[in-house]
Amino acid sequence: MIQNYIRDIPDFPKKGIMFKDITPLLQSPEGLQAAIHGLASALDPTSFDVVVGIESRGFIFGTAVAHHLKKGFVPIRKPGKLPWKTASEAYELEYGTDKIEIHLDAVKPGQGVLLIDDLLATGGTMQAALNLVRRIGGRPVGCGFVIELSFLEGRKRLGEVPVHSLMKI
Ligand code: AMP
Repeated sequence: MIQNYIRDIPDFPKKGIMFKDITPLLQSPEGLQAAIHGLASALDPTSFDVVVGIESRGFIFGTAVAHHLKKGFVPIRKPGKLPWKTASEAYELEYGTDKIEIHLDAVKPGQGVLLIDDLLATGGTMQAALNLVRRIGGRPVGCGFVIELSFLEGRKRLGEVPVHSLMKI
């Protein structure tokens, strides 16, 4: 069902990458509802307090899941975007490194956290996000993705944290 709404764009943003375009999914009332309900039902909602979403497509799904489950939402952002005190974590890209940041007071010590992004590829982004959540005192209880590129084995980098994906490639 979800897979019917994912559009493959070859060589975007650069040659050799098969970009998974989620905009047809967002455009479809049935598709969007299936994605949000799927992510929201992946975990027992009493097991976590906060939903963390990773910029920028993780914001779309993460906020909707948080609202659906009556939880708060916390953004993890690209460097220099968050206005208050932050923790930041660097991670490897195919070429070079990137960085993501979270506000130091975004999660209360010991709170359970569900982390959401649109797609799991190598797992580097989510691994850095898990480090950030732990560094500010949060307790990751699960990661949710719409799409998992399972041939890249990204979930191996996420350790013990349970991974839920709505569609595997
Ligand atoms: P990674 O850190 O390798 O797991 O990459 C995950 C991040 O990069 C997510 O935020 C995705 O949105 C984005 N991403 C990586 N590969 C793709 C792809 N083939 N299509 C769309 N987005 C991708």
